[in-house]
Amino acid sequence: MAGRILASSLLENRSRRILETITARDMLTEAWNYNRFLLQGGERLHTVEALQAIVTVDIKNFKAINTQYGYEEGDEILKQMRSLFNYFTRGNECYARIEADKFVLLLEYNSLNGLQQRINQLMRRIEQIPENRLGVSCACAAGVCLVEQGDQNMSLLVDHANMARNSLKDYHKSAYSFYNKEAEQKLIRERELTLRMKSAAENEEFVVYYQPRIGLKQKKIVGLEALVRWKTGEGTLISPDDLIPLFEKNGFITELDLYVFERVCRQLKQWMESGHKLIPIGVNISRVHIKEPDFLKKLIALCERYGIAPQHMELEITESAFLHNQDIVMAVAAEIKKAGFALSMDDFGTGYSSLSLLKDLPVDIVKLDKEFFQKQANPRERIIVTNVIRMAKQLGIQVVSEGIETRESEEFLNEIECEFAQGYLYSRPVPMETIEKLLAAEDEESV
Ligand code: C2E
Ligand code: MG
Ligand code: MG
Repeated sequence: MAGRILASSLLENRSRRILETITARDMLTEAWNYNRFLLQGGERLHTVEALQAIVTVDIKNFKAINTQYGYEEGDEILKQMRSLFNYFTRGNECYARIEADKFVLLLEYNSLNGLQQRINQLMRRIEQIPENRLGVSCACAAGVCLVEQGDQNMSLLVDHANMARNSLKDYHKSAYSFYNKEAEQKLIRERELTLRMKSAAENEEFVVYYQPRIGLKQKKIVGLEALVRWKTGEGTLISPDDLIPLFEKNGFITELDLYVFERVCRQLKQWMESGHKLIPIGVNISRVHIKEPDFLKKLIALCERYGIAPQHMELEITESAFLHNQDIVMAVAAEIKKAGFALSMDDFGTGYSSLSLLKDLPVDIVKLDKEFFQKQANPRERIIVTNVIRMAKQLGIQVVSEGIETRESEEFLNEIECEFAQGYLYSRPVPMETIEKLLAAEDEESV
């Protein structure tokens, strides 16, 4: 009898443990699951005396490990991460797996310096896991939120640590970031813009401004660049620098580029119909966009719909887009040319392989980045700019200098025989009505 009771109580214990593992532990790594972390970690927020911090970590491109080396390998790495955290945490500290390769830790610290050192150490060790197993190094990212007195809501603290982690952009090396209010506000704003962007396109809140390109010999407008702005319902203008990185992240950039491209087609059509002289218009195409397989087809279809010859349009692609995925971009460049568009390399000179790119790419125009002209060029920079222009010309490439703000810069361009310029000295980006007035004034002058 006693034996049976014992057996049944053992069984009960065992099932309780199994149940506990299922409900409180992550099945793969057997680390705490997130729920348990919220409950038990949450309790420690107010029972532990020491200073505490919430740290969330993940491996960059963990997906790639799964696809390249298989899920088993991925799982093994996760298990080793768990062992690492187990060894790494002490006393009242705890950790859990949130999902996929995302883990969260509750750490204690005496000084910020000490905490930072520990996080650095932890990240080095995480990097070593795939390195040792697969011989590939992987960057990892961490977000840190310091627990302040009175903080009780664990899930909010984890959100904050995640926000800090998500604020790390395009990191190729391991990095961590502390949560702060500004980062939060930026994220809230990004969320708000993300929620509103689609309806903004439907309500035509995106407006296209144009900036003239001046031919320095002719002293005339010889082209335009279309630059988008978001005119919100409340009347504020949001500049592309605040939008493009967000839209590249959330994928909306493709839609926006097409929107601008279509506006430009409409503009050219209107000019054709009214007998207005046509001047080429440059449209910026994001590096994210050019990777889409049917991107050029859509542009060609729009040109056909509006009856515009692609020769009237220039596609501006930033130099940095050419640095990654060179093969794809080279192929795309060749197709752009085949379709009849002019191809221009934007922000030229900011990358590292500018010159070798020129050798291989069929570009028609390079746009020297405005950085070259924002301050007095030193003699070395002058030599570089001078020779880039000379070489480009010999290759039959047109050079446009961007960001020309002063007469001195203009004189410099004349000296080095750069024939085209764009910048506030001539005009800021302005609505089409203003451009048409400028063009009309030029026509009158030449009569
Ligand atoms: P970008 O294509 O290099 O365009 C030139 C930028 O330099 C414009 O900024 C223009 O206003 C600014 N700029 C022109 N002259 C001067 C000057 O003399 N001094 C200074 N300091 N700045 C000058 P904007 O309009 O704010 O656009 C910023 C960037 O956003 C553009 O750089 C382009 O890369 C991107 N962008 C704009 N519209 C679009 C779009 O429709 N699609 C995509 N993918 N990107 C766009
Ligand atoms: Mg541009
Ligand atoms: Mg540029």
